Amino acid sequence: MSTSPADAPAEIPVDQLSPEDAAAEHAALAAEVARHNRRYYQEDAPEVSDAEYDALFRRLQALEAAFPGLATPDSPTQTVGAAPAEAFGKVHHAVPMLSLANAFSPEDVAEFVARIRRFLSLADEAPLVFIAEPKIDGLAVSLRYEGRRFVQGATRGDGTVGEEVTANLRTIASLPKTLPADAPEVVEIRGEVYMARSDFAALNARQADAGKPVFANPRNAAAGSLRQLDPKITAERPLSFFAYAWGEVAAPLGETIGAVRDRLTSWGFATNEPAAACASVDDLLAHHERLLTLRPDLDFELDGVVYKVDRLDYQQRLGMVSRAPRWAIAHKFPAEQARTRLNAITIQVGRTGALTPVANLEPVTVGGVVVSRATLHNEDEIRRKDVREGDLVVVQRAGDVIPQIVEVIDDGGHAERPEFQFPERCPVCDSEAVRPEGEAIRRCTGGLVCEAQAVERLIHFVSRDAFDIEGLGDKQVRAFYADGRIRRPADIFTLERREDARLDKILNQPGWGEKSVTNLFRAIRERQAMPLDRVIYALGIRQVGQATAKLLARHYTTMEAWRAAMAAAADPESDAYADLVNIDQIGPSVAADLIAFFHEPHNTEALDELLAEITAEPAAAPAASDSPISGKTVVFTGTLQTMGRAEAKARAEALGAKVAGSVSKKTDYVVVGADAGSKAAKAQELGVTILSEEDWRELAGI
Ligand code: NAD
Repeated sequence: MSTSPADAPAEIPVDQLSPEDAAAEHAALAAEVARHNRRYYQEDAPEVSDAEYDALFRRLQALEAAFPGLATPDSPTQTVGAAPAEAFGKVHHAVPMLSLANAFSPEDVAEFVARIRRFLSLADEAPLVFIAEPKIDGLAVSLRYEGRRFVQGATRGDGTVGEEVTANLRTIASLPKTLPADAPEVVEIRGEVYMARSDFAALNARQADAGKPVFANPRNAAAGSLRQLDPKITAERPLSFFAYAWGEVAAPLGETIGAVRDRLTSWGFATNEPAAACASVDDLLAHHERLLTLRPDLDFELDGVVYKVDRLDYQQRLGMVSRAPRWAIAHKFPAEQARTRLNAITIQVGRTGALTPVANLEPVTVGGVVVSRATLHNEDEIRRKDVREGDLVVVQRAGDVIPQIVEVIDDGGHAERPEFQFPERCPVCDSEAVRPEGEAIRRCTGGLVCEAQAVERLIHFVSRDAFDIEGLGDKQVRAFYADGRIRRPADIFTLERREDARLDKILNQPGWGEKSVTNLFRAIRERQAMPLDRVIYALGIRQVGQATAKLLARHYTTMEAWRAAMAAAADPESDAYADLVNIDQIGPSVAADLIAFFHEPHNTEALDELLAEITAEPAAAPAASDSPISGKTVVFTGTLQTMGRAEAKARAEALGAKVAGSVSKKTDYVVVGADAGSKAAKAQELGVTILSEEDWRELAGI
């Protein structure tokens, strides 16, 4: 948490500092900036916002301006980025990759232009054109082409040595892998790898759904995705590239930036748009203003506008100072952040039952948009930031993404406010909401009854591999749900009964005729008896897909036995629990979801209602055989010589045996192959019969 400026020690103007105090402050600040550089460039995990970082950096520059002796070559004001991380190969940049000087105000921009005119000794009326292009917030890379083929790619690193990320860059579809015949023999194209806002939003939604951490902003997502040791991970991430500069070239690319941009476009590169040629400070400021207005509608994050002298011969003469060219400057945008009061935290329930906390804010304008709600991601995030209802908070907008709470500002009242208690019941249907170990998301377990999830569950219920009711697809289920005809699975089967007297009501709906209604009722009637595994699958219990449903049906054979066992398994000490996790391929995580489902009375009620309408046909009884292993529980361990594990299992099941994954008191036989481990020992300990592969084949009559 940060303190409000009112609480922070006021900064002493640099010209009032003694040389000793200045040196001490400089040392501490330089170390802090260097740490932020490491967090940002090497670990892709900044601790502070860019605006806060920029403020520290400016103070460092001010100290060095007042006490020039402090500006040693290793000061962060004199260096670029951070050294390449150890894990990557290193690439030496023949032409260094620089940073940019910053302008924050119109005065800074006017001073930049005046400085250039002075340096080039241009008369006031002599034309001086700048190209103003969006400053995209991603990470800079250099792409080397030899013989017009892409041969090597690297990050900026510390400007001199970067990280080799060729294979990762190859995964970016929009990046040209070859250049046309007019390209020089050797050329290095430089530009920004970034993630489009829409892609970022989709990636974060996927991350959140999978219970993985979400990225703070598109820049971190792009940097974290490109700087992967495994290019396969990069390939899964939606990255894009803008070209805006070049390094080593075997032949000049043009005489102006404008000409080079055209050439890059003709080679298949995307260049930063919208760009403009500007002939005066006013033109530059107007384009800055224009991009600021367009900002919310652009599909990439931009943190400012870069102004570059258009003529390359001028650029040559201007050269560079310490870490940045003299011929360019980044005119930064104000941060899209604002402070406001957090009035309340409410919980939203998604279609998959995920509980997401939402911050309800006192409306505030952030980057030109009024924000009154922001996401808090999940309960860990609330705890980590210690966000409490009533707190003063910093809100940030990152593109199309729902605004986020960056941090809490202590207004003096934070400690007195109660900590936020994340609900353990679903706010929509009051079913239990559980959070499996190791996951970030808490989910409502009342899938069959919860309004937030019901439509999706019903669609699943009637889908092809479940109840497969012809004439009842997505569209029809949604319509019937909306008009209240079908709210729970049982309602499907009582529909005809309920509608009999007022059939005309359905008939009046668009898309329904007498024939289709009659067909629908018939299709529903045909599904009043269903194999147990399909009924289990249709319930839409988390992690219980078709294969698991089949395993359960085969193991428990009847609905009654299965239900009773799931209820009993709630006690982790019970035999029912041991029996459940013992089923080959069912582990504690699936067991937890099954138990949670049956622990919720809303679900068992909905199931009772359903079973009053339909029959769950018992799973085919194991092939009646007089085999001595029929009805026995078998565990295989170690490597079998004459058949694979899958075949052994299938054969045992065909003979009526149950195959379990681990040894318990209920196990009848443990078949021990080569290199068997702890299971054999456990069998010995429990006195379970141990069979060699040969014994087993004999017993089973194989
Ligand atoms: P910079 O981002 O201010 O400017 C240089 C970079 O701009 C180039 O390397 C390139 O990557 C990029 N760029 C985008 N569009 C461009 C264009 N059209 N033409 C030329 N370059 C373009 O400088 P920097 O040294 O990369 O980083 C400094 C900035 O990074 C800080 O101002 C801050 O915003 C951020 N930062 C934040 C933290 C933190 O902890 N939050 C730490 C370090 C740096």
